[in-house]
Amino acid sequence: MKYISTRGGAPTLGFCDTLLAGLANDGGLYMPQTWPAIAHGSPDSIFATRAAEIIAPFIGDEISRGTLDVLCRDAYATFRDPLVAPLREIGDNRWLLELFHGPTLAFKDVALQLIGRLFDHVLAARGDCITVVGATSGDTGSAAIDGVKACRNVTMVILYPQGRISEVQRRQMTTVDAPNVHTIAVDGTFDDCQDLVKAMFNDATFRAQHHLSAVNSINWARVLAQVVYYFTAIEQLHAVDAPPVSFSVPTGNFGNVLSGWIARRCGANIGHLIVGSNANDILTRFFETQQMNAAPVVPTISPSMDIGVSSNFERLLFEMNSRDGMATAKQITNFRTSKKLAVTPEQFGTWIRPVFRGQRCSDDQTMAMIAATYRDHGVLVDPHTAVGLVATQACTKPLEPVVTLATAHPGKFADAVERATGVRPLLPEHLADLMSRQERFTSLPNDLTAIQRFVASVSATR
Ligand SMILES: *Cc1c(COP(=O)(O)O)cnc(C)c1O
Repeated sequence: MKYISTRGGAPTLGFCDTLLAGLANDGGLYMPQTWPAIAHGSPDSIFATRAAEIIAPFIGDEISRGTLDVLCRDAYATFRDPLVAPLREIGDNRWLLELFHGPTLAFKDVALQLIGRLFDHVLAARGDCITVVGATSGDTGSAAIDGVKACRNVTMVILYPQGRISEVQRRQMTTVDAPNVHTIAVDGTFDDCQDLVKAMFNDATFRAQHHLSAVNSINWARVLAQVVYYFTAIEQLHAVDAPPVSFSVPTGNFGNVLSGWIARRCGANIGHLIVGSNANDILTRFFETQQMNAAPVVPTISPSMDIGVSSNFERLLFEMNSRDGMATAKQITNFRTSKKLAVTPEQFGTWIRPVFRGQRCSDDQTMAMIAATYRDHGVLVDPHTAVGLVATQACTKPLEPVVTLATAHPGKFADAVERATGVRPLLPEHLADLMSRQERFTSLPNDLTAIQRFVASVSATR
């Protein structure tokens, strides 16, 4: 399989180069040149086996099937539930797809456990090593660290804003005892951390010298790995030859729900894709007005969805433009200055209306849904999952089969869940002693030179 940029100005790459590149060098995102047809499997398939089957056509011959099988098996052996992504029934034709049984308790583990292993395999084969640098405001950092902590060819440096993330989130990063993992507490905000990372990537000499790479949500392999559970959910429900199943997805960067769109495009028996947003509702407004309007980010109780612009939407836009990279590049460039992006009624009618529904959800509605789900079904859900459930309620017909993606473990957002229900969710056993583990981090000022000096001192190419 070959990959092309959504902006049409970057070299065509194979899977392994796409994996390592992250962003295309014209600023675009990589997309596969064609969409393979993927058949549904049987209800009792092993998740890791299905993962290898579904991912293999997107890799082609660059990684052997035997190797891919082993990488998938090892990645998903880290999950606490043998099904990896089990379903839980919550009412008639309503299910939760529990994606939080991985090491760091959020759905991002599904992709990042595999990506760490793919990185290590590809780099070892090439005799190369990289330094992954990232900024985090929460879930991504811990999932990325856990994904690469055993990689011999990857050094990881994660920047987080000191005093501005939850204690559980911080400890999930700072208590990982691995020689290749480094956490920096920056005296600044999340935006400062992101600016520092961007500045390091824009410093071409520094970037080349230390083989900098990224694992943020625009990496194609992350989107790809998430396609798997849309297929397996339908298979577990014995719904392959039944009426299509709709999926409701608590959404931030549009990565997870884009994976659902890809699954549908490749043949999964999916009906609608329901996009749940918190007060950061750029996508809901787009579904209402056919126009994207950027707005300032507001903090909510579902912080992993607090985004101003959903960067992965560019991939769908590229499809809506019949894969015209130049047209897509122009729209994105205009959007950056005007903060507006409109699609034509034809594009909206062809690509959006038949597939997508959108719903925004206030913090009060989120809290009420956490309470109602506990009262009616005895199930504790985290605030992100609750946003998905609000969207499910608003956007579906009573008997339509709907799977809502449960993207985080309730114990990860225990304060909000306790406030809503009066019950404090516990962390799973493997994290029960998290609050007493030894922390390791380096405090640095919000200063590029200081951060670069640190990265240089730990990078794999020093
Ligand atoms: C990252 C995250 C999301 C948003 O996912 P996107 O792919 O950015 O849309 C939702 N819920 C949780 C718990 C997350 O960590």
